[in-house]
Amino acid sequence: MLEYQAAKDLLKDKTILVTGAGDGIGKAAAIAFAKHGATVILLGKTVKKLEAVYDQIEQAGYPTPAIIPLDLKGATEQHYKDMADTIEEQFGQLEGLLHNASVLGVLGPFEHMTMNTVEEVMQVNVIAEIMLTKALLPVMRKSTSASLLFTSSSVGRQGRAYWGEYAISKFATEGMMQSLADEYEDTNIRVNSINPGATRTGMRANAFPAENPQTLKAPDEIMSTYLYLMGDDSKEINGQQLNAQ
Ligand code: NDP
Repeated sequence: MLEYQAAKDLLKDKTILVTGAGDGIGKAAAIAFAKHGATVILLGKTVKKLEAVYDQIEQAGYPTPAIIPLDLKGATEQHYKDMADTIEEQFGQLEGLLHNASVLGVLGPFEHMTMNTVEEVMQVNVIAEIMLTKALLPVMRKSTSASLLFTSSSVGRQGRAYWGEYAISKFATEGMMQSLADEYEDTNIRVNSINPGATRTGMRANAFPAENPQTLKAPDEIMSTYLYLMGDDSKEINGQQLNAQ
């Protein structure tokens, strides 16, 4: 997929929401989508980070984005419903949703898992995704062509020792992707998952503290698969598990 070259105006007139848009891969994706013409809705926890991404997009002359500050850990179903109403009022419809925000939890032996951490990881990585997707599907149904993209991991496709609740949450994400892809097969919405692969971010550094980050791709170097899946060149792709590297 790395050889894919996105047209400059690939995402023109599309509105795309990115979760975790303030940092790491989500930040790079938001900027890449905006660069290719999309109006991006930046959702995340730390407002300062979202504002910095907003400024970067504005200064580059890309379409003016929107910011939704939201902590996925505490948000209720009503928050998501209200957000969907606001998006529909402001934009009419939604062409893209990138579920990117996640937390790593604690790596270690299964027997040492603490339920507090398990609950947090499942809340942010799975339950928030369910609620956000549920609220936004009707707004996505209003577009002519929409892409719903989940972020997985290599441990969401093959379990691995000591990856605990994070691996479990990513398998749940893949299951959600497959169920939705099947359910929405004959609609305007395609549903897929992407595994970014080892990428130079804060999460990766937490998981592999001894690794030299300079050996890894930076988030903006893995964007071609993200662009492909968000743009209409991937219109026929549904229910697939793709790799960005
Ligand atoms: P980062 O930790 O760098 O960024 C995660 C983003 O998610 C941040 O913007 C963070 O916001 C946001 N976020 C975390 N918790 C919440 C919350 N409760 N509410 C709202 N936003 C939240 O991670 P990466 O960029 O590395 O990861 C992006 C995705 O890619 C994740 O789904 C991850 O699992 C996946 N992935 C990453 C790999 C890698 O090598 N980097 C490999 C495989 C998969 P804030 O900064 O404000 O906390």
